[in-house]
Amino acid sequence: MNREDYQTIVDLTSEALGILSIPVRIKNVRAGRANKNYITLPKWLDHYDEQYQIYYAVHETCHYGYYPKGHNLSFKTSEDKALALWDIKIERHKAYPKALYANGKRIENIL
Ligand SMILES: [Zn+2]
Repeated sequence: MNREDYQTIVDLTSEALGILSIPVRIKNVRAGRANKNYITLPKWLDHYDEQYQIYYAVHETCHYGYYPKGHNLSFKTSEDKALALWDIKIERHKAYPKALYANGKRIENIL
């Protein structure tokens, strides 16, 4: 996906969560992050399944919504709700996906 595609995902997810949307940028970084000004997504996401790319953008959007960072229960609740908008279900190991399902089908190519 390109930057505009990610921006659309972040905009729609933010709207559904009732939070302000912020600009997305794609950079050559190890991990994504959200701060007050930007959602930064790593360039290496290109190599993974599109549904995983959506998951990643939604995850960072939820961080922005629950700024400052953390993976507490309310974060996970909002992430579940936001992922459901995209027909994605998550099984977590701590904060991160052990498995992801899109439309009930397991997504294979995830980190
Ligand atoms: Zn996180």
